[in-house]
Amino acid sequence: MKAAPFDYVRVSSIDEACQALADGGEDARIIAGGQTLIPLMAMRLARPTLLIDINEVDDLTGISVNGDNLVIKARTRQADTLASDVVKERLPILADALSHVGHTQTRNRGTVGGSLVNADPSAEIPLIAQTLDATIIAQSTRGERTIAAGDFFESAMATTLAPDECLTAVRFPIWPAANTGFGFHEVSIRDSDFALAAAAAQTTLDSNGNCQRLSVAICGASPAALRLSIVEETLMGSDLNDDAIKTACANIDDLIDPQSDVHADAAYRGRVAKVMARRAISDARDRAKGELV
Ligand SMILES: Cc1cc2nc3c(=O)[nH]c(=O)nc-3n(C[C@H](O)[C@H](O)[C@H](O)COP(=O)(O)OP(=O)(O)OC[C@H]3O[C@@H](n4cnc5c(N)ncnc54)[C@H](O)[C@@H]3O)c2cc1C
Repeated sequence: MKAAPFDYVRVSSIDEACQALADGGEDARIIAGGQTLIPLMAMRLARPTLLIDINEVDDLTGISVNGDNLVIKARTRQADTLASDVVKERLPILADALSHVGHTQTRNRGTVGGSLVNADPSAEIPLIAQTLDATIIAQSTRGERTIAAGDFFESAMATTLAPDECLTAVRFPIWPAANTGFGFHEVSIRDSDFALAAAAAQTTLDSNGNCQRLSVAICGASPAALRLSIVEETLMGSDLNDDAIKTACANIDDLIDPQSDVHADAAYRGRVAKVMARRAISDARDRAKGELV
C-alpha cells in the first residue's frame, strides 16, 4: 500500500518545528528516523496530514554529560548512541540495551527520541528510561517542560506528550560508579526483533555487600515498561542472594498484564518476564561486586 496524501516541511530549528506543530494541528507529525512512522503510513495505520522533518535540526543531536546526568538529544541516532564511548562508560546499561534494538540498518536511522515517543511496550530505550527514572524534555510554542519517565509512558504506543510538543532531549541520571552494576536480559524470536520480554536492573551495594540502591523494570509484559517497585522494596538491604531474588520476583504476577499475540501467549510472556527480571538483578549484583564484566 502507499501512504495517504500528506504535506511535508523540512525545518532547521527547534522553534521552527514547534511552530509547524502548532500551525499543523492534531494530525501533524514529526518525522525523525522514519523507522516506525513510514511503515505505519505505508499501511495507512497512520495518516498524518503534515510531516515535519527534523533531520536537519543540528540542535537536536548530540550526547553530553551535564553534572550527574547524561543528556541525549532527541534526534541522536541509535547507532551513534550505541557507539558512544561516554554512553559505554557512564551508562553501560543503555549501551547493552541498544545492542538489542532492531539491527544495524534500523539503528543507523532510528533515533532515541523517536523510540521514546513511539512507546512500544516491548521497546528497550523506554525500558531503560523507566529503570533509571529518566527525564524527558519537551518543547512547544508554549515553552519547555520536563516529564518524569514514570509520567511519560501512558500505555501501549501512547505517551503524555501533547500533539504540539517536540521531544528535544532525554536526561538519564548517572549513578556513582563505585560498587554499582547493571543487568539487562531479553528474549526475542530473532536478534533484531522486539523483545517478547526484557528486564533491566541497576544496583549499588554498600561496604558489606548489601543492596543500598536498586532499580528494576520489565517490558513486554504490560502496556508500557513497568517499574518493579515491590521487588526493589523487598530486596533493599538484602545481600541479593539468588533465593531472595527469586522470592521477590515471584510476586510480580499481580503487577504485569501480558498479552497473547502471534509470537507468544500471555502465560509464556509472563514467565519469561519473571526470569528476565531475576537474571537482570543477579547480573547487576555480580557486576557491582566486580565478578562479571
Ligand atoms: C525491522 C525493524 C526492527 C525494529 N526492532 C526494534 C526493536 O527490537 N526494539 C525497538 O525498540 N525498536 C525497534 N524498531 C523500531 C525502531 O527502534 C524505531 O527507530 C523507533 O521506534 C522510532 O524511531 P524513529 O526515529 O525511526 O521515529 P519515527 O518513525 O520517525 O517516529 C516515530 C514516532 O515518534 C514521533 N517522533 C519522533 N521524534 C519525535 C520528536 N523529537 N518529538 C516528537 N515526536 C517525535 C513521530 O511523530 C512518530 O509518531 C524496529 C524497527 C524496524 C523497522
